[in-house]
Amino acid sequence: MTGLTIHDVVIEAAHHIECNGYSAHYLYSVPQAQAGRPLAQCAVDVIGAISLAAHGTPAHPATALTRATEQAVLAHTTAPSLAAWSDYKGNGKQRALALLQETAAGLRAQAQQQDQWRAARCPDCGEAIEIRDDGMRTLCACDVAA
Ligand SMILES: [Zn+2]
Repeated sequence: MTGLTIHDVVIEAAHHIECNGYSAHYLYSVPQAQAGRPLAQCAVDVIGAISLAAHGTPAHPATALTRATEQAVLAHTTAPSLAAWSDYKGNGKQRALALLQETAAGLRAQAQQQDQWRAARCPDCGEAIEIRDDGMRTLCACDVAA
């Protein structure tokens, strides 16, 4: 699977948790796997769901895409890692889904913000620049001088 964005993976990961069920503390449900269920259909935790969404199996080694997705999700928690997050009391299926949905919404907001460049002029040198809502701006003669 190529061309997946972090947002795609987050959405698909939530879908997998919703359909397969949630399995705390490990990538996928070991009892289900031992009973012969295909890994792609076993209940998954957040990391397993991300792997499953990115490359079709919850047990696959981490890739740049899964790591970037985990970082994006982790940024919406106060936990040091997603493994630690899943060990926190009360963090079950509903919170996992809420976390993924919140991450997806955050990514959409970020993407939208990055698209909103508007034309402006630097008040100091008068050069044409572009400014984004978050204050990010393209360089002008002042930056070169600085
Ligand atoms: Zn300037």
